[in-house]
Amino acid sequence: MANADLKERVRKIIRLLKRTYPDAKCSLNHSNAFELLIATILSAQCTDARVNIVTQDLFRKYRSPEDYLKVSEKELQRDIRTTGFFRNKTKSIQGTAKVLTEQHSGEVPETIEELLELPGVARKTANVVLGNAFGISSGVVVDTHVTRLSHRLDLSTQKTAEKIEQDLIAIVPKKDWVLFPHLFISHGRAICRARNPICAECVLEKLCPSSYLKTGVMPGS
Ligand code: SF4
Repeated sequence: MANADLKERVRKIIRLLKRTYPDAKCSLNHSNAFELLIATILSAQCTDARVNIVTQDLFRKYRSPEDYLKVSEKELQRDIRTTGFFRNKTKSIQGTAKVLTEQHSGEVPETIEELLELPGVARKTANVVLGNAFGISSGVVVDTHVTRLSHRLDLSTQKTAEKIEQDLIAIVPKKDWVLFPHLFISHGRAICRARNPICAECVLEKLCPSSYLKTGVMPGS
C-alpha cells in the first residue's frame, strides 16, 4: 500500500478510536514524573492493575529517589515482590534513584538521551515518561497490545518493538504519538483481544485486513 494511503488509513483508525475511547490515557497511577518512572519500571511483565495495587503503598513509603536508597535491597524487593522479576526491578529502581540523586538533583530528566542512561530504562519507559509526564512526543510506546494491533491492522510486519515503533513513527501524525498507544491498548483490551477478538463489533472492521468477517479465520487462533 502506498504510504499516502497507509497514512490516510491510520488517520481514520485514530479518528474512530478517539471517538470510541474518549477517555483513553495512561492507566498507571502517578502524581508526578518520578512516580510514573517507577511505575513504568514495575510494569515490565506485569499488568497495570497489579502495579497500581503495589504503588498505592509504595508511593506513600517512598516519596523521593533518596527514599529508595535508604532501604536495603531486601526491603525494597519485599515491597515490590508481587509485580514479578522483583530482584531485577529492585536493581533498576535503586540504580535509577542513585543516578537521579547524584546527577540530576533528584529530578527526572526531560530528554530521551538522559532517560536512556538510567539503569533499567529502555525506550518504552523513556517514551512513557516523556509523553505522559512532560507532554513531550519522543516516540510511540510499543507494548504487547500495540504490537498485536499493528500486525492485525497491517501497520507493521516487524517483530521487535524498536522496529515497529519506527514504522508507526512514519505513519502516525506526531501530535498523536502519545495518545496512539493508549487508544490501541483500550481497543486491545475491549475488542481486539489476543484470543477471540470481536471483529463483528469492532469500529475498525472495515479498515482491518485481518477481520474474520473478511478472512473467515479468527485472528490469534
Ligand atoms: S476487525 Fe478484528 S482483528 Fe481487526 S482490529 Fe477489529 S477486532 Fe481486531
